[in-house]
Amino acid sequence: MKKTILLLAFCFAFLECSSQKTFTKEDYEKALSKYMKTITASELKEHLYIFASDEFEGRNTGEPGQKKAAKYIQDFYAKEGIQSPESPYVQNYLQPIPAKTFPRIAKDTENVLGFIKGSEKPDEILIISAHYDHVGVRNGEIFNGADDDGSGSVALLEIAQAFQKAVKDGFSPKRSILFLHLTAEEIGLLGSKFYTDIQPVFPLENTIANLNIDMIGRVDEKHQNEPNYVYLIGSDKLSTELHNLSESVNQKYTQLKLDYTYNDDNDPNRFYYRSDHYNFAKNNIPIIFYFNGVHPDYHQPTDTPDKINYEILAKRTQLVFATAWELANAENRPVVDKAQK
Ligand SMILES: [Zn+2]
Repeated sequence: MKKTILLLAFCFAFLECSSQKTFTKEDYEKALSKYMKTITASELKEHLYIFASDEFEGRNTGEPGQKKAAKYIQDFYAKEGIQSPESPYVQNYLQPIPAKTFPRIAKDTENVLGFIKGSEKPDEILIISAHYDHVGVRNGEIFNGADDDGSGSVALLEIAQAFQKAVKDGFSPKRSILFLHLTAEEIGLLGSKFYTDIQPVFPLENTIANLNIDMIGRVDEKHQNEPNYVYLIGSDKLSTELHNLSESVNQKYTQLKLDYTYNDDNDPNRFYYRSDHYNFAKNNIPIIFYFNGVHPDYHQPTDTPDKINYEILAKRTQLVFATAWELANAENRPVVDKAQK
């Protein structure tokens, strides 16, 4: 009896060890599909109804409602066993930004960071980001910011959870991944500016790419009859390889219509310069900005969680996850082959 148990234990230990070391490219591909499917409309919905609830008071930078949102993110990472990055700039998932660091920051605020360490190239970092602040309460009305950018915030939580599930099964990403929830975007991209210009938690030259999500839960006027789309901005501006990887991942795993209307250098909206990814792009870090376009509830108190299309939100979140997975596990980091404009 004892012998059998020992023998079995030995076998399991051996299987475990060997399986850790012999994952092939095909294994990683299958794993991508498997963990991508853990990102669901219902979990995103559950998070967003809390994150964009009146209790969080529009998440205005430095205000109590935003602190609640920060704590929600912190608690989630702690519960999932996702680490806080080891850095003198970060304590318990928070990177503090003191008031008046920039004139427009009136009260102390913080970026929130979760981290998964890479197994083969831990010093190379992929950043996935979304801003978690919004514009607060005005004239007694709460601006819930469900799409802007509650949608990106909860997408980031689900992406992190999917990666962490993979880690637990032995599929650690080869490069490290930083899940970066940025503050003070609405008052001038200041959380990301603080990260890139004042306190990069990881060296910018080791940062291989930034995938930034800002508004992915709605369907704009143009796509009412074909909601299976997302606008991509910036993917080809610095790295042809990043653009090609993004295209092929979508063809293979998510089949969304990738709309590049706003990627046009002559587009008057200039969205490339209008969300947090730009602070990375200006440092020659290739970026992709994921965006659903504008709608009548944009920056209105009517941007509420009941108006989100959760199936589409899930699909777009899956696209970001799949793209991140390929970037984190690719043989080489995407080559920067184009000059900054
Ligand atoms: Zn936004």
